Amino acid sequence: MTADATRPVVQVRNLHKSFGDREVLRGIDLDVAGGEVVCVIGPSGSGKSTLLRCVNLLEQPTSGTIEVLGAEVTDPDVDIDRVRTHVGMVFQQFNLFGHRTVLENCTMAQRRVLGRSRADAERIATANLERVGLADRAGAMPGQLSGGQQQRVAIARALSMDPQLMLFDEPTSALDPELVGDVLGVMRDLADAGMTMIVVTHEMAFAREVGDRVVFMDDGVVVESGPPEQVIGAPHEERTRTFLQRVL
Ligand code: ADP
Ligand code: MG
Repeated sequence: MTADATRPVVQVRNLHKSFGDREVLRGIDLDVAGGEVVCVIGPSGSGKSTLLRCVNLLEQPTSGTIEVLGAEVTDPDVDIDRVRTHVGMVFQQFNLFGHRTVLENCTMAQRRVLGRSRADAERIATANLERVGLADRAGAMPGQLSGGQQQRVAIARALSMDPQLMLFDEPTSALDPELVGDVLGVMRDLADAGMTMIVVTHEMAFAREVGDRVVFMDDGVVVESGPPEQVIGAPHEERTRTFLQRVL
């Protein structure tokens, strides 16, 4: 499965998602082009995580369509595991296996899902640990690392699957402030290397500097979307202004 340069990597159309009688996504449209970095901002409870989880089909949409890397993931016949293989996801909580070394955390899915040999998986994992500045911690257990280091391992683990799309859900929100910068630095390097990324974040400076586009969500809808200098610098919508005044 390869991205077709003429099609968006992600195309969301009129996405609705309800939990019981509560509709948390109320008609979302979103396009992400190859190599684009889209930062999603908005208040807590606005549906940002649900949107990302729908893109990866961790949540089943109530209605609407989602195309990822040319596959209609909302089609019941799609091989969703095959699509997911190409999509890396990094969460607020790092979800590393605590009883496996850093290197093992980065090789397990490569071996099980992609069927790589131990030697290949270790070579690829080591290269990605190097990329996030942690090659020297390959033998450590996750509990011996800081939160920021664990999150960088989670990124290296995702990269080891050769993703064509990376989804980040508030990857720095659980970190002590002094550890945030290293993780954002790794994400910035990834963006510079041309990775297609959707990043849910409260880091407005990151969204402004690294985002090609910023999407402001509130109450299950996209209120405003555009270049960072517009959405963050000079928002058109009152709701965006109110949100930014609270967080900036
Ligand atoms: P955000 O990430 O913007 O903070 P979420 O997508 O996590 O928002 O949540 C949007 C709304 O959906 C919230 O009101 C939340 O309580 C609700 N919600 C999220 N996941 C579930 C779930 N599995 N079951 C019921 N309600 C949920
Ligand atoms: Mg969330």
